[in-house]
Amino acid sequence: MSEFIGVNILNFVKELPNDDACKAYLTKIKWRDGFKCTKCGNTKECEKSGYKYHCYSCDHVESATANTLFHKVKFGLHKAFCIVFEMSTSSKSLSSIQVGKRYGISQTTSWFFMQKVRKSMESSKKHFLSELVHVDEFTVGRKEQDKQGRSYDPKKKKAIIAVELTDKHRVKRVYVKSIDDYSSKSLIPIFEEHIDTSAKIFTDKWRGYEPLKEICNIT
Ligand SMILES: [Zn+2]
Repeated sequence: MSEFIGVNILNFVKELPNDDACKAYLTKIKWRDGFKCTKCGNTKECEKSGYKYHCYSCDHVESATANTLFHKVKFGLHKAFCIVFEMSTSSKSLSSIQVGKRYGISQTTSWFFMQKVRKSMESSKKHFLSELVHVDEFTVGRKEQDKQGRSYDPKKKKAIIAVELTDKHRVKRVYVKSIDDYSSKSLIPIFEEHIDTSAKIFTDKWRGYEPLKEICNIT
């Protein structure tokens, strides 16, 4: 197989049934134009053994996964390949909870891996909000008189907003997403899809954000 093309998961798993098949696939794709040492640039004095290349010029050994999305993936290359396949072929966005359950890995693990995948898939289009990020919920519609805090009026449209600020507290970039309610399940996607886990995040301390504290840097 040269390059897998298609959206059929059964064919995908048939072509790439285990970790070794995925390693072989990666080896082929990564060095399709021949080996070039990432340390010294040498292209000639090298030897391939299994899914690695040994550069004799500088003694560097490079694995097929080095400098790729799949580097140091602890839950196995096959699962990682399947997650990337699902993410790139699904029209709806997948949640880290779903993926964690489906592949028997923790939500934190699937979150970090999926964010890495999203970043590399979208790096040319958009960048994750980072550094200082403020997150808040709001409703769209007339203001309810004498009412503060969250609106539970079912007729009002609810949304969540994430704002990246400069160090002078000026607005840099913004993402808004509509939400059905204020549950963690509804609040989480904007974090998964748009906010870097390294960002310092400020919220109004609503309990819906609590489960995110294990993964994100939330104040
Ligand atoms: Zn080298």
